[in-house]
Amino acid sequence: MNLEEGVESLKGIGKKTAESLRKGGIKTVRDLFYYLPRSYENFQNLTKIANLKPGKVVIKGQIENLNTHYGRSRRLAVTEGVIKDDTASVRVVWFNQSYRAKQFQKGKTYLFSGNFELKYGRLQLTSPSATLYEEESDGLKNAIRPEKENLGFQPIYSAKLAIKPDQFKKFIKTAKPEIARVPDLLPKASNLKPNLRSESLLKVHFPKDQKEADEGRKYLAYEEIFELILAARLNREENQKLKSEKLPFKAKNTKEIISTLPFTLTPGQKRATWDILQDLEKPVPMNRLLQGDVGSGKTVVAAIAAYQAIKAGAQVALLAPTSILASQHVESLDTLLKPLGVKTALLIGSTKNKAELKKHIKSGDVNLVVGTHAIITDDTEFNNLAFCIIDEQHRFGVAQRQKLLLKSKDGLAPHLLSMTATPIPRSLELTIFGDLEVSTIPEPPKGRMPIKTKIIREMDQTEFLYPKVKEEIKNGRQVYWICKAIEDNPKEETVSVKKQAEKLAKIFPKSKIDFLHGRMKPAEKDEKMLKFQSGKIDILVSTTVVEVGVNVPNATLMVIMDAEGFGLAQLHQLRGRVGRGEHQSFCFLVKSGEEPPSRRLRELEKSTSGFYLAEVDLKIRGPGEIYGSLQSGVLDLRIATFSDTALIRAASKQVNEFMKNDSLENYPELAHTIKKYQQLTTLN
Ligand code: ADP
Ligand code: MG
Repeated sequence: MNLEEGVESLKGIGKKTAESLRKGGIKTVRDLFYYLPRSYENFQNLTKIANLKPGKVVIKGQIENLNTHYGRSRRLAVTEGVIKDDTASVRVVWFNQSYRAKQFQKGKTYLFSGNFELKYGRLQLTSPSATLYEEESDGLKNAIRPEKENLGFQPIYSAKLAIKPDQFKKFIKTAKPEIARVPDLLPKASNLKPNLRSESLLKVHFPKDQKEADEGRKYLAYEEIFELILAARLNREENQKLKSEKLPFKAKNTKEIISTLPFTLTPGQKRATWDILQDLEKPVPMNRLLQGDVGSGKTVVAAIAAYQAIKAGAQVALLAPTSILASQHVESLDTLLKPLGVKTALLIGSTKNKAELKKHIKSGDVNLVVGTHAIITDDTEFNNLAFCIIDEQHRFGVAQRQKLLLKSKDGLAPHLLSMTATPIPRSLELTIFGDLEVSTIPEPPKGRMPIKTKIIREMDQTEFLYPKVKEEIKNGRQVYWICKAIEDNPKEETVSVKKQAEKLAKIFPKSKIDFLHGRMKPAEKDEKMLKFQSGKIDILVSTTVVEVGVNVPNATLMVIMDAEGFGLAQLHQLRGRVGRGEHQSFCFLVKSGEEPPSRRLRELEKSTSGFYLAEVDLKIRGPGEIYGSLQSGVLDLRIATFSDTALIRAASKQVNEFMKNDSLENYPELAHTIKKYQQLTTLN
């Protein structure tokens, strides 16, 4: 069977179901076969309710009297009911799983697996999993004896839109003979057996125990990592085939710009600068990532590199993710480069006299153009664009390189430098980012005071936070106050920007308070940001639009409401908005509820190192999610965990052999599947 065929070509999947699956991203037979169980449930020791003993138990029965009510704060949904079998009944409780109220069909029998325990003076089954029990289905039939029925080891799939977990189980079961015939995807490695793919898929979908499931999953992860690494190597190979202009290093010029700096470069900055200046000299395009924590001083490194290019007669473009950030860059670069005779221009949506400016760009009068990435996607023409710097994005994909090729001269590809403050864990560097050279600025300039971070409960704000706010404002400092939502939503209890701004106006009647959010027009956002920058606002209540790059050194206090609702990387970025000046800065992570703070918040309280936090983040969350936040979800990593460095090394070795001795032409399916990895990009 061709894995590229639509899911409807499988037995048991009709047009309508296929449509629902498609909407959930499961389009082809391959997609379905690789829709792996979320977890497994061991139904090997089924107990009659009358014989239940406290501990982990599995029971079979019907559910009755199911209803949901809410706890005091409405944050806790309690779904309660009674499970009955032919011996007795038992209370069952789920917390914050209100979908359970609709999960069960009347009269049907289900399997429940969970903890049987004494709670609030009663025995109950707490938050068990629940699966439909089908008498006739093969895996469930092998009853050993009525008391201890062996229902085996069962996969549990996640629901996807309208498709329920049990439906996935059925589709996969029906397709079992087809899965057994799936041909291998990867080239044969000398040390691996044939038919590993079909075997592994079977192990994952129909394991006899957890060990078998893990084995299957490990091979599929290996496949995925192999694809990623191969895609990166191919990209690098393609990049190496391109030609670009040599922009020679001249010691005199570099000394000249460095001598104008009001500080000395840190060792990390020096090393990174040197890497880049050398790359620029080569006739193949640079493809380098410059990573350094917020405030580590990446901009000046970029400026020194830009100066080398400009002195060699080339034009340089710097792309920023937002127009606020582009405006800030142009300001600091102009201060640095204007005295050296460099002409810098800002090109963003609100730029006046655009046509005039574009003429100067085309003629080559302007040396350095700063703007959002629209610069490379719209009709701006350059005279000789040979160097492209991109801030706070992660890389150029193949498509962007193509576009840039069209903008540069004589088919020469521009040199590319990406800068990021979200460090890439080492394991990702080897795989997904394997086509990039990486330079790292490991430490901030000396003399910076680390931001003091504190987790507090919402109810403790009056005691611990408000006095601090007053103090900072009295000392002439400014405050960011981050909320998740723009407006109040009656269904959620998250604090909104508008409500919070009103509330703060009452608490701090003498202070100037304003707000900012992503739904405002760009010009309005810029205006508020400028007001904040020039000190006309004391407290800026905002959504995360201020997350990247904005530089207001006088802001010393960052308050993040509902901090548990944000990811670690994002919290670190937000915190990086303060601590940019000479004053001690503070960050308050405000959490609602009474539960102890998550590991995420505790790590953030402990550390200000983006590199450390990125590693922690990779451990706490799946790599898919991390990558998702880097790449806006372009890549959906299904299986691989980047913590398995042995697996990564093995795959990397096999890719090397493959690149040396084999060709993708011999593997049409592989050629097809790695395309999507090769296209990875954040810019569209
Ligand atoms: P980021 O890496 O976050 O982009 P910036 O380039 O904006 O950091 O630099 C942050 C601040 O640090 C700027 O005001 C910059 O002038 C200053 N800076 C950069 N390098 C040094 C250095 N070596 N010593 C002292 N200050 C520096
Ligand atoms: Mg920056």
